[in-house]
Amino acid sequence: MKVMKFGGTSVGKPERMQQVTALITREAEPKIVVLSALSGTTNALVEIGHSIASGEREQARRQIEKLQGHYQDFIRELVQGEKTYAKARAIVAEHFEFLTIILKISFSEALNKDILAQGELLSTKLFCVYLEEKGIDHVLLPALEFMSIDAHDEPQIGSIKVKLSQLLDHYKDKTLFITQGYICRNARGEVDNLKRGGSDYSASLIAAAINATVCEIWTDIDGMHNNDPRVVKKTVAIEQLSFEEAAELAYFGAKILHPASIWPAQFYKVPVKLLNTMEPEAKGTLITQEAGSVGVKAIAAKDGIIAIHIRSSRMLLAYGFLRKIFEVFEKYRTSIDMITTSEVAVSVTIDTTANLRDILKELEPFGAVETEDNHTIVSIVGNEIAETKDILSKLFDSLSPVPVRMVSYGGSKHNVSLLVPSSYKTQTLQLLNKGLFGLE
Ligand code: ADP
Ligand code: ASP
Ligand code: MG
Repeated sequence: MKVMKFGGTSVGKPERMQQVTALITREAEPKIVVLSALSGTTNALVEIGHSIASGEREQARRQIEKLQGHYQDFIRELVQGEKTYAKARAIVAEHFEFLTIILKISFSEALNKDILAQGELLSTKLFCVYLEEKGIDHVLLPALEFMSIDAHDEPQIGSIKVKLSQLLDHYKDKTLFITQGYICRNARGEVDNLKRGGSDYSASLIAAAINATVCEIWTDIDGMHNNDPRVVKKTVAIEQLSFEEAAELAYFGAKILHPASIWPAQFYKVPVKLLNTMEPEAKGTLITQEAGSVGVKAIAAKDGIIAIHIRSSRMLLAYGFLRKIFEVFEKYRTSIDMITTSEVAVSVTIDTTANLRDILKELEPFGAVETEDNHTIVSIVGNEIAETKDILSKLFDSLSPVPVRMVSYGGSKHNVSLLVPSSYKTQTLQLLNKGLFGLE
């Protein structure tokens, strides 16, 4: 059995849903198809949530109506049969009625999660109506019945495995299953989600849970590119990546994959393929245990980074100092991305301001603490980077105009990370594209 995940753009237009149908029916292997919300929907739902949270209910009502109009147009094109059209209309009406009812209820974070879930619920249900019209046998597996996270927002892979196999046991003669990406239940049993872009994570968790032959991530580009195509003009697709390389790229900002989406596939040894719905014959990127080749493969950038510098002469000869510092971050469940140390100073970076104030307060006794926000981590990812000749010299030669604030090298064979002010991100990515890949 395999998993095929289609992102927002891949289902965002009626003709795309037709393309997806062609792709999922072209070979007989049983499959679970994971769908995102139609492109733009989750953003619109986030906006609706914001309006309700800030008491702007009239604005929220207008936003809901606009989104509903989009879905009404969508289904008019999607299905032709009278019966299936009536079904599609009823689905749209049901979900938008729900949103309208929410307008009358006092806002809470739990309610916001319910709002955000409407996108994937709509896309999967409408897609199933389309399949029904085409006479394609399928089963809709509700993700809320098997996908769950614990009190720390970590997926409960054991429970996902058990629940999903119990569900599948009911349909032993079926071969095509459709389910929602992104949405799940939390430890309190409420509707929750795997964070933005989380459908990739859903797909990988499902692939791990069913021990799939492959986890295919179908999107709007022909695989992982060597650099961010939104920032740099000339980029090329990478044929093969190891799980480690892909995980580093995803974590350090390559939007094509959710940051956490690699570990389930890696742990359960399921190969991942990144493929283009609009260009299905393109090779795409294969992600497995093997790296395929040595050297630099790609660059990614992660914005919104805060650097924290702690200077203390007491560090001199003081073993246990770093542990005390790390304990502060552990206490506030804040992960550190980069670290550099000298005898009298430690610098770390974090990507959230959620507990920054408390963290800084607790760091104060350790020395003089300074922060710098608006930074970007640029990660250079590849295989055996440390052993590859000339990489460092090429890297630093090409970056002479950029004020690099921190460098992390040697922690992993797959990564060199640099911290730069975000205002230098575009220039850094362009210079490295030329310096490391000869692409302009
Ligand atoms: P989907 O909706 O299918 O999940 P996403 O928008 O989340 O698609 O991810 C695909 C997008 O990721 C591409 O259109 C591209 O702009 C962006 N992207 C960023 N970095 C990379 C990269 N290194 N390689 C390929 N795509 C990238
Ligand atoms: N629809 C969700 C989002 O836009 C999940 C996803 O597309 O992966 O973030
Ligand atoms: Mg995505």
